[in-house]
Amino acid sequence: MSDSSDQSNTDDQPGARPENAALPEPFPTDWTRCLILVAHPDDPEYGMSAAVARWTAEGRSVVYVLASSGEAGIEGMAPEVAGPIREEEQRRSAAHVGVEVVEFLGFPDSRIVNNTELRDAIADSIRKHRPDIVVSLYSGPEFAPGFPNQSDHMEFGDAVGAAYDDLVAAVGVDAREGRPQMWFESDPQPSHYVEVTGFVEPAIDALAEHKEYMSVLDPDTPVREQARKQVENMVAPVEGLAGGNPVVGFTRKRP
Ligand SMILES: [Zn+2]
Repeated sequence: MSDSSDQSNTDDQPGARPENAALPEPFPTDWTRCLILVAHPDDPEYGMSAAVARWTAEGRSVVYVLASSGEAGIEGMAPEVAGPIREEEQRRSAAHVGVEVVEFLGFPDSRIVNNTELRDAIADSIRKHRPDIVVSLYSGPEFAPGFPNQSDHMEFGDAVGAAYDDLVAAVGVDAREGRPQMWFESDPQPSHYVEVTGFVEPAIDALAEHKEYMSVLDPDTPVREQARKQVENMVAPVEGLAGGNPVVGFTRKRP
């Protein structure tokens, strides 16, 4: 997530749903190639990676493309030092959940804006990787009441939506031109869910690879312990869903 301001939601309850909210439905399975687009290193690990572990175990292909290298995210460390460290942590993290391709677009961490350059870079990534589905990070205004989202995440999500719409309009239904069929965001109030029984441990391993980042964020708690607490919170069972097993939530944004 790249700055420390949104790490404080450890103790809220993503498993709790508003009364009368419809239960999410199972995530589609009629696809083989997924492109995950996020703003920063560790964004895939806060909320998606257990689902990614399941998808790759099922033989699906998942690629990570990150707008920035998270170079502004380690307090007290110069960006030119932090950037390469965070890229390496992200590559090791991805390997735990079966993701071999990790690309960085080089946009400035903590100063991401939805501009033409970013939208073009996102569209190029979609054309290059030809995913059936695009998945990006939650871009709504707040994760929960009182827990605002970051500007980078919101700007980036808006850029993904605009790039997706432009690309789909340009290529119509031609899959050879890289037309994706669906776009999802991770979401604390999801429309869809992936049951992740058996894939929680690799997600913890993945988050724990962000050692440098997490050890600065909370020097007093061992990184592995932080990672376990975060991941278990994010995949907390939802009443009435998936037999009480751990789940990861997403919301379908398109079509
Ligand atoms: Zn982030």
